Amino acid sequence: MLYDFRSFVNPGHYAFGKGNLKHLGELIDRRKNKTNDWTVFMIDHFFQDKKETLDRLPIGEKDLVFFIDTKDEPKTTLVNKYRDQILAHQSTLPAVVIGMGGGTTMDYAKATGLMVTNEGDSKDYQGLDKIKNEGIYTIVIPTVSGTGAEVSMTAVLSGPEKKLGIKCDYTIPNEVLFDPELLSTVTDEDRFFTGMDNYIHNVESLNGTWITSMGKAFAEKSNEICVDVFMNKYPDRLEADEKMMVASIMGGNSITYAQVGVCHALSYGLAVVLETHHGVANCIAFNQLEQYYPEGYKQFKEMQAFQGVDIPKGITAGCSDEDLDRMVDVAWANEHMWNNAFGPEWEKHISKAELKELYKKM
Ligand code: NAD
Ligand code: ZN
Repeated sequence: MLYDFRSFVNPGHYAFGKGNLKHLGELIDRRKNKTNDWTVFMIDHFFQDKKETLDRLPIGEKDLVFFIDTKDEPKTTLVNKYRDQILAHQSTLPAVVIGMGGGTTMDYAKATGLMVTNEGDSKDYQGLDKIKNEGIYTIVIPTVSGTGAEVSMTAVLSGPEKKLGIKCDYTIPNEVLFDPELLSTVTDEDRFFTGMDNYIHNVESLNGTWITSMGKAFAEKSNEICVDVFMNKYPDRLEADEKMMVASIMGGNSITYAQVGVCHALSYGLAVVLETHHGVANCIAFNQLEQYYPEGYKQFKEMQAFQGVDIPKGITAGCSDEDLDRMVDVAWANEHMWNNAFGPEWEKHISKAELKELYKKM
């Protein structure tokens, strides 16, 4: 084990159920006081022209709304910018930051809520336990399932040098509002790619050296649900979406109590050098990992065939040797992932040359 002891944190409050969005105003009001009486809404840009959903949000005159462009994954530079805008918006701090969307938007909300109360550049807080002060009360509302960001202690950010999470006890969202009705508009592709992020979290936890009974229980149940959802035709999509919300919670906890592995390390290289989106990058990488995760690979291919989703191929074809080496270096730097995958002597099990060959096949 790399870190031998940690007492893990979960969100303080969960509200789970169809139609829950109508209670958001109550949850926010509980956190307001005379001084801190306004809210920041960070909302996935998909909803920008969805008047019906926006009208249901309790957005007041004093509040500040950001629509989050999900084309790129969360960047430290943008977190800093959002923080500066929040500090300039009113003379007092907001009572609540809302993050409504997928992993991208929820991680923006988690990181920005923290940076409001922690001075400086968010890139300096990438890593473990670097945050000094508790952030603004954060409520996240997932609108696509799989990353587990709604329950995780990490806000994954791409900085100028690295893709690395801000991770500490304060990074956990304070509250999660789950409403499966919000997922009805997700495309089949996004549903598959983000859903497979969940599947891969569990495969990597279960096959890693850091696994404990706790992580195993979460990962096994999460993948039982995930495989059921992606290997069956659900006439009622709401039922499948509700189940995947639960799978995502459990998958997020499986990596909290264990760790990701080979696929995520490789996927980070694709993210940093080619800016490939997390869910897609994971699928591209996992598509080449039969030798490391044979059973998981087989099931993954079955789900892919059943869902009829294509996994991009040849994305590294135009890469220079330097690009490939950079990818390898980014992947190699995720020591905790390799340590989980192969144990403390992981460098005896994998080499940079092997990583480069894997990248070439992607
Ligand atoms: P995402 O947030 O970008 O969402 C995927 C796509 O779905 C986007 O195009 C988005 O606009 C769209 N979308 C979201 N909700 C929708 C809805 N209801 N209807 C229609 N479209 C909708 O992607 P993601 O896969 O959820 O998150 C990826 C990010 O999460 C990456 O930045 C990754 O690093 C991060 N991540 C974080 C953790 C963590 O523990 N914090 C874990 C895994 C991944
Ligand atoms: Zn992931």
